[in-house]
Amino acid sequence: MSLAWFDLAMVTEGICQEVKRIDTQELKGRVFDIIVVGGGITGAAVAHEAALRGRSVALFEMNDFGSATSAATSKLIHGGLRYLKNGEFGLVRESLRERRILGDIAPNLVEPLRFLIPRYSRRFRKNVPLRLGMWLYDQLSFDKSRVAEPKNRLPRRALFSAAQTLESAPALDSFGLQYAVSYFDYANVNPDRMTMAFLKTACEHGALVANYAKVHSLVRDGNRIVGVQVTDRLTQATYACYGKWIVNCAGPWSDKILNTNQAATARQPVRSEGVHLITSKFRFQDAVAMETDHGDHLMFLPWRGLTIVGPTDKPYTGDPDNYAPTAASVQELIDKVNALLPAEPVGGAFSRSDILFHYGGLRPLVGLDTQQDSYSASRRYEITDYSRQGMPGLICVEGGKYTTSRGLAAQVLDLLMRQSGWPSASQDSSRYVLSPCRVGPYQQFIDDLMTGYESGFQPETISYYARNYGVEAKMILDKAREHPEGREMLTQDGEIMAEVDYVLEHELVYTLDDLLFRRTGIGWMGKPSDEVFRKIAKKLGQRLNWSLADQQRSIVDCLEKRYTLP
Ligand SMILES: Cc1cc2nc3c(=O)[nH]c(=O)nc-3n(C[C@H](O)[C@H](O)[C@H](O)COP(=O)(O)OP(=O)(O)OC[C@H]3O[C@@H](n4cnc5c(N)ncnc54)[C@H](O)[C@@H]3O)c2cc1C
Repeated sequence: MSLAWFDLAMVTEGICQEVKRIDTQELKGRVFDIIVVGGGITGAAVAHEAALRGRSVALFEMNDFGSATSAATSKLIHGGLRYLKNGEFGLVRESLRERRILGDIAPNLVEPLRFLIPRYSRRFRKNVPLRLGMWLYDQLSFDKSRVAEPKNRLPRRALFSAAQTLESAPALDSFGLQYAVSYFDYANVNPDRMTMAFLKTACEHGALVANYAKVHSLVRDGNRIVGVQVTDRLTQATYACYGKWIVNCAGPWSDKILNTNQAATARQPVRSEGVHLITSKFRFQDAVAMETDHGDHLMFLPWRGLTIVGPTDKPYTGDPDNYAPTAASVQELIDKVNALLPAEPVGGAFSRSDILFHYGGLRPLVGLDTQQDSYSASRRYEITDYSRQGMPGLICVEGGKYTTSRGLAAQVLDLLMRQSGWPSASQDSSRYVLSPCRVGPYQQFIDDLMTGYESGFQPETISYYARNYGVEAKMILDKAREHPEGREMLTQDGEIMAEVDYVLEHELVYTLDDLLFRRTGIGWMGKPSDEVFRKIAKKLGQRLNWSLADQQRSIVDCLEKRYTLP
């Protein structure tokens, strides 16, 4: 049975546009129920869950919200078909359940994505486990059509003939191609905006948040952890914030938090690097996942009219503060593409000059034994309550997937509610639509937008904002109506200048990187033109009182950090 819209908790008025930065005056004399360290998707989901359950919560992020691992994903909300190989049925089922929930609570920010797994005669023996795995994946996602939004109901697996496969993915090798198995997961339309949607909903329910606010030590009272010392990286001011529980959601840095003040002895962390490339050299209608000769897999993911290729999976032993995508990972991807796709149909071998953009991040992995490679390591998470180690007040969350963050946050809150004897929750986050996502039936929503903004806007602009911003689309389009210069098109899939003004006003933007990569999506499509760079840096500069030299420096930094291939 599908959920109907009225089964979901819909708040249709008073959309929360604002993420407001913590004012230190608000902290004076306050003891929060929960302090969250880290503003990636895990921290955002924990703050969201806490606020929805009526707990007071403050979140500190040392850089920008969602700027680390959460910005480096394959942009999938998925069950993780390949984890079935490791017998991780529980993890896959949990991920599939969370996938369905995100289809309900973030209806515009996910969309069905068909995957094809091509099978070649020369690798025939490996096909039996695949078919079994596909059957199991379908069984474990038995509730995939119980989603309120019809567009997000997923069909079952199917077989594609070789001809159908090549029609969808003409770049594939036709030699020996027998058929492809097809199944559906969700594309995460915009992970950066989804992290922001969790934060906005948390703020709507009273959470206080700060980006560029680094927790540099834990405050102790005897054994108990009672707060955090924070440095505001914008003003260099240092202050304390007190809480009954500190939840460490620092992802690849979680051991560093534990090591401050020798708070606890952290386990030796295991991190693996994952890099993706973005190209327009080949286009795929559907996502394609292929086994490589190294025993791992490579995905080709259609995204905004381009293709994302990746990821890599290599152990990383350096300091996470110094991480940047490595040349070895970029070269590995180029080699794998050339080993899998024949040069002929795509007009020559894939090379560095075909790369429009690259990005990478670190997976914090748990439970990896020393014999295991990071590729086959589990993507499960662990929640550790340090009371058991004589340090009450501290909870640490490690590992996991973007997909399972809401469920992980619910478990953290269940634990804290039990330990603290807090009354049970008033809102169920699995049925509570995120603030910007309260679009109602999607087809109706998009039809109304298309009619309402027909004059003056390209359909791709309206569609882009409907998907990426949900109900906030209207505010951006209205802004562009008021100020026609806001209609200037910035990307081929419809982003316009009014979006820049909107996020500058409402979303705590402090760097060009925040603006181009995590509020808007302008930077992801390849290097913007010099003129676009200049205009956007000027707008940011006006907001932050930057000189012309500051604006130019921010452009140079961005070019070096983001558009120089290692
Ligand atoms: C290559 C790759 C592809 C992936 N693809 C997918 C996918 O398609 N789907 C999926 O479901 N999952 C995917 N994942 C997994 C997913 O990205 C992670 O599970 C998720 O992003 C982890 O989020 P997080 O908030 O725990 O960590 P992070 O996003 O790293 O957030 C931790 C935050 O803590 C902050 N922090 C650290 N120290 C401090 C401090 N002292 N004070 C304040 N803040 C601090 C950091 O700045 C950081 O922003 C992928 C991972 C990788 C690497």
